[in-house]
Amino acid sequence: MKTGSCLCGQIQLKLTGEPLVTHACHCVECQKITGSAYGVNLWVEAKDVEVSQGELKSFTTQGGSGQPHDVHFCGDCGSAIYSRYHAAPPQFLFLRSGCLDDSSDIRPDVHIFLKDRQDGVKVGEDTPQYEGYYHFKEVWSEASQMRFKQILSQPS
Ligand SMILES: [Zn+2]
Ligand SMILES: [Zn+2]
Repeated sequence: MKTGSCLCGQIQLKLTGEPLVTHACHCVECQKITGSAYGVNLWVEAKDVEVSQGELKSFTTQGGSGQPHDVHFCGDCGSAIYSRYHAAPPQFLFLRSGCLDDSSDIRPDVHIFLKDRQDGVKVGEDTPQYEGYYHFKEVWSEASQMRFKQILSQPS
């Protein structure tokens, strides 16, 4: 289990499960949300994210897929916490790695939307990289692919 929080500490959360995959996303949207060069997003099960203190605010924009994208953040300090992309099944959230209290072991499995990459950001050759999005079979571990199918087959 990992703990997370926003910068001001109003929001406290727990992440009780492992991510299925971790994206480093260089798209313009992720740059705006994080105020940085790219977002590192943990694709996690929504049930594994427990906000134990504080209430998140959200803002809905249109995601790159054309479907709504809800951005959740601390209403006091504005720290990015997670996103819900309506293009993805509702059982999942995309947790920003920076909200974890210890993010030292976070390692992206893939870099995506490199077409929007800031020029000074270099990506190591040892991580798969895509100009846009990718097909999950190219990146996800067998275990994560199985887990994904299992989650989707469960009655909600
Ligand atoms: Zn805050
Ligand atoms: Zn992005």
